[in-house]
Amino acid sequence: MSEKITSADAVEPLAIGVDIGGTGIKAAIVGLSGELIESFHEPSPRTISALRDFVQSVVKRVKAPVRGIGVGCKGIIDASSTRVKRSPGDLHFLEGQLLSEVIGAGEVPVCAENDARVALIAEVLWGAARGRRNVVMLTLGTGVGGAVLVDGIILHGAKGAAGHLGHTTIDPRGGLCICGNYGCLETYFSSRAIESDYWAHMHRAAPVKLPISSTGEVPNPASIFRAAADGDECARYVVDRALEYLGAALVSFLHTFDPEIFILGGNIATAGPQLIAPIQDKIVRRTKTLLGREVPIVFQKLLGYGGVAGAAGLVFLKQNLLAI
Ligand SMILES: [Zn+2]
Repeated sequence: MSEKITSADAVEPLAIGVDIGGTGIKAAIVGLSGELIESFHEPSPRTISALRDFVQSVVKRVKAPVRGIGVGCKGIIDASSTRVKRSPGDLHFLEGQLLSEVIGAGEVPVCAENDARVALIAEVLWGAARGRRNVVMLTLGTGVGGAVLVDGIILHGAKGAAGHLGHTTIDPRGGLCICGNYGCLETYFSSRAIESDYWAHMHRAAPVKLPISSTGEVPNPASIFRAAADGDECARYVVDRALEYLGAALVSFLHTFDPEIFILGGNIATAGPQLIAPIQDKIVRRTKTLLGREVPIVFQKLLGYGGVAGAAGLVFLKQNLLAI
C-alpha cells in the first residue's frame, strides 16, 4: 500500500528509509528536511525474499536519483557492515544476514541501524530533540526499544547492544523475557505485556468491561487505556501497574544518562501526555534531588513515520548532508 504525501523537489537530495518492525514494515522516499515524498507500508515480511520484494517495489517508485537506502531494524545491527547480529522474535530469519545484500540495492549505498536509534535520529534531526546533545528515547510498541544520545553521540557500546533500555531489569523475580533475562521493562510495559495482563484477568473471569472481538482478538492497549479512563477497574489496575514499572524505569534512566529531554515514542505513546500524567509527579520527586531540575518528558514528534525518516536520515548523516 502506498500513500502520496506531497510533490518532490527535483533538486533536493532524496533517500529511501525502511523501518522493519515486528508487526509491520514501512518505507518512504524522504527529502533532506525530513518530509515524506511517498510512503509505503505492509505487514512485516517473514522471509528474506518478501523483504527484498517490498524494498524493490519501493525503489521502482522513485523517479529521481536517491543518495542511498537507510534501514532501521529491530535487534542488534552492526552499522558498519549492515549485518543483523541478533534479532530474537518475529525477525529471527534476518539474523546473520547483511541487510545491504538482502535488499538487493545494486549500486545504491545502503546503511542500517537499530530501529529505536533511527527513531531517535529522526527526533534529533527534525523532531522533539532538534539541536539537543543529550537525549534518551524509549519506543513503546510491540516490544520496548531504547536509544541514547550522549554528548552528541549515539551510544553503541562495545558490540552494538548499548541502549537496549527495554531489557533493563525492573523485577528480578519477574517473568522470562524474549532476551533471556527475567523481569525486563518489556515484560511489563509493551503492547503485548499490557494485552496479556488484561487477557489474564479476562481468563480468570475478573470483572472486565472490554469484550473479545468476534474474530477472537483480545483488547489492544489503546482500548485498554480508554477503558481505564472510563472506569473499567480491571483496565485501571493493569494500566496503573504497568505505569508504576515504567515510572521506576524512567527514574533510573534519568539518573543514569542525565538527559536534556526524555522522549516517549512508539504506538503506545499515541495515548499522549495523559499516559504519564499519573506518574509524572512521582518521577519528578524521585529525580529532582540528584538531577537538581525537572527533565521534560516529551512525546515523539514524528510519530508513526519517525523510523523511516530516521533511516533516511542515516544516509544524509553518512554523506555529510546533515549533522547532529
Ligand atoms: Zn529482556
